[in-house]
Amino acid sequence: MNVLVVNAGSSSLKYQLFDMDKNTVLAKGLCERIGIDGRITHSPADKEGFKADLPMKTHADAIKYVIDALVDKNHGVVKSLKEIDAVGHRVLHGGAKFHESVLIDDKVLAAIEECIPLGPLHNPANLTGIRSCAEVLGKDFPQVAVFDTAFGMTMPEKAFLYAIPHRYYDDYKIRRYGFHGTSHRFVSARAAQMLGRPASELKIITCHLGNGSSVSAVKNGKCVDTSMGLTPLEGLPMGTRSGSIDPAVIEFISEHENKSAKEVLRILNKESGMLGITGKSSDFRDLHAEAKKGDDRCQLAIDIFTYAVRKYIGAYMAAMEGVDAVVFTAGVGENDREIRADVCKGLDFMGISLDEDKNSNAPRGTEAVISKDSSKAKILVIPTNEELVIAKDTVDIVLNRK
Ligand code: AMP
Repeated sequence: MNVLVVNAGSSSLKYQLFDMDKNTVLAKGLCERIGIDGRITHSPADKEGFKADLPMKTHADAIKYVIDALVDKNHGVVKSLKEIDAVGHRVLHGGAKFHESVLIDDKVLAAIEECIPLGPLHNPANLTGIRSCAEVLGKDFPQVAVFDTAFGMTMPEKAFLYAIPHRYYDDYKIRRYGFHGTSHRFVSARAAQMLGRPASELKIITCHLGNGSSVSAVKNGKCVDTSMGLTPLEGLPMGTRSGSIDPAVIEFISEHENKSAKEVLRILNKESGMLGITGKSSDFRDLHAEAKKGDDRCQLAIDIFTYAVRKYIGAYMAAMEGVDAVVFTAGVGENDREIRADVCKGLDFMGISLDEDKNSNAPRGTEAVISKDSSKAKILVIPTNEELVIAKDTVDIVLNRK
């Protein structure tokens, strides 16, 4: 069974075609500048790829070019559309409605639409991606929605409810949802396999550290707490997001600089975090390079970040009454040895002991155990694979296995 995985953004669309019988990726690619002009980058696994500027007024135009690329004589990986069996979509916000992945029908589309106020930037783009696929592939072509928020739906009320008047939850479902759920789900399940123990008896802390970052507490295979909230702004300081701050800061800036709440939130989302502290970059590679040259602010930004991750690890150990494994994943977690070392520094007293050599020698992009043999909790590096989870869920749902 071949599954096309689609991640539609406001002006971009990422795709991967999986052969799920052979467990391989046949091709992947990216459409950019949709609605502006249009560019496709297509990379088949065993053939030469191509880049082309093609007019993409809409996402449907982009999907047509993706299908053309996948069946192309020279760069294609399947003979015809008939060899694509289903599409799986990444959908950011499923609100309180979606606790797991679902087969898309009109009711599901309406429900995703109802979640737009919770995910105003992403959900409209995700919907456009789904509707464009239906337009190009036919209304009855099987499509599955996989929600970034679904993994967090197992959190107990004490973890997900904000201490604000209850009517805001009753009326608008304002609560902690959490994001990166597909990633936390994938790496926590993989950690259990690496430990050779059932997930149902493990306490795992998953640190998804990238441009956007979040930490989850996964107990007995279920998410019991996570750092992001109603939106991805809460929790850790990130590349350009502030993470958790005193909400009174918003009013303070708004009054002192005559800015609307919306404008202040834009600053907290786009101009804060590592970029805001340093005024230089949101990319940890740049921060390390500048810190080594003596830029104190860049070092401070790194310290603020690792201190925050460390605090979440402590908090989630308390929440779960222990931990069996701490997992690092995503761009920073998988690649940045210095950040991993910094996060784990001084945690030996909690049974989390990093092996400096194993950490330094862990090859990039592969799984690794980087804790000391004597460490009570294992420290793992696990490359995330959200697309694979989406493809697997799609197969399960389309074959009615779920
Ligand atoms: P992601 O959002 O998961 O794609 O992660 C992107 C971030 O990962 C970038 O902003 C970088 O800060 C970081 N990153 C990627 N590669 C490396 C690397 N080799 N070393 C350190 N950081 C990296």
